[in-house]
Amino acid sequence: MFGKQIKPKIVIVGGGFAGLNAAQQLKSTRYDVTVIDPSPHIEWLPNIHEIISGVKKGDELRLNRNILVRRLGHRFLMNRAMEMTSSTVLLDNGMKVPFDVCIVATGSVNNTFGVDGADQFALPMKSVEQCQVIARKLHRASLSHRTTRVTVVGAGIEGVEAFGEVMRAYRHRPQFEFNIVDGSEHLLSRSPGHLDGKIRSHTDGYRVEYHLGKKVESVDHEGICLADGGAIESDITIWSTGAAPNGFLQRSYLTQANHEWASVNPYFQSEARENVFIIGDAANPEGMPLAKQAFHAIDMGKAAAQNVERLLTGKAMRAFQPSNKPQVVTFGDLDTFMLFKDFAVSSSVLGAAKEAIYTLGLLQMAPPRSAKDLLHSLDLLQRSARRVYLPTLNPLSLVNKLPKSKVFS
Ligand SMILES: Cc1cc2nc3c(=O)[nH]c(=O)nc-3n(C[C@H](O)[C@H](O)[C@H](O)COP(=O)(O)OP(=O)(O)OC[C@H]3O[C@@H](n4cnc5c(N)ncnc54)[C@H](O)[C@@H]3O)c2cc1C
Repeated sequence: MFGKQIKPKIVIVGGGFAGLNAAQQLKSTRYDVTVIDPSPHIEWLPNIHEIISGVKKGDELRLNRNILVRRLGHRFLMNRAMEMTSSTVLLDNGMKVPFDVCIVATGSVNNTFGVDGADQFALPMKSVEQCQVIARKLHRASLSHRTTRVTVVGAGIEGVEAFGEVMRAYRHRPQFEFNIVDGSEHLLSRSPGHLDGKIRSHTDGYRVEYHLGKKVESVDHEGICLADGGAIESDITIWSTGAAPNGFLQRSYLTQANHEWASVNPYFQSEARENVFIIGDAANPEGMPLAKQAFHAIDMGKAAAQNVERLLTGKAMRAFQPSNKPQVVTFGDLDTFMLFKDFAVSSSVLGAAKEAIYTLGLLQMAPPRSAKDLLHSLDLLQRSARRVYLPTLNPLSLVNKLPKSKVFS
């Protein structure tokens, strides 16, 4: 099947964390690789919430996808893939891209769980542009003396990080009031360490109301209606209740229903087609419930590319072994948590860890190739380091902060 081609054709749909890492593994001397993505930039999503407070700017979190892909010797098509068959991907411009093997890495989309009005009146935070919209609205409100009620819906990791950034920038502004809503009884209810009380203690004395154990029924221009009949007046509603599968999966018959993640075997092969591999957020690996996290997506991209090579060369594929890395969660400038499997550590100095992950991650994704490149990377990193990293490492604040480190289990 694959022997007739001099260079097998590999198409990667989606050039995010998973797709680009797969592309990095595949040598252009051996494979004819095409990466398809409608967006010109890859975005460093784990830090986009920092745009809300202004400590990060959009350009510090974006890398040019065309440059990255072409550096690898591959082809980049800036298009949306509409659907695929077992041998071609159909693009939004009508072009059909043939493949021997396809890697699907289309990530996820914002999940409003069908809540009435959420798409229209609440602000998602899944991209740099969406976080910039939130930042602009908050900034505009800060210029007026009128009361502004800000509500974050969703108190998981993303929601708590967004709330932390809102608090970082606006907690001292008297015209702001803050709400956080979640169906669970606790903040970060699915994370280890019972951090609810610790986070709340940081907001004592500010105008913050917690609406926990409450389900949102609808959103409109005045605010939020709760399922228990209550209501929350809200001028700026930030929506952060998780992820849903990208519609490409169902349109390509890789799933049966729109709400399903694509089932794959431990080699990342689709259950529907053996020459299609699905990775990153889009994938639901058999018997391996994985959190939708960038570090898993990166590892999956590398592992799937190796299995594609093995399939093409007739070797036995290898089952994926997920790594167990701690996750760093920031609560603005007030605290940072490192979440391990069964416990969590809290310390403001850990903020530097998240910044270091960001710095290393960007450099790994786009290693500088020339002095000009290096200067550009250093300039971006210095700008962000000046705002986030250096204040945390200031020796005096370090002394103040160290005793506050604490383990939660
Ligand atoms: C606000 C936020 C904070 C996060 N924080 C963290 C964190 O602290 N730590 C962590 O590990 N993870 C974090 N994550 C999760 C992490 O970003 C995701 O798990 C990771 O991005 C998944 O990688 P992926 O490659 O599967 O998808 P993505 O990185 O989302 O890439 C998917 C790509 O597919 C493209 N695409 C979509 N549809 C099509 C189509 N039809 N045709 C072609 N291309 C298409 C998209 O444009 C996109 O570029 C966070 C996510 C968000 C939104």
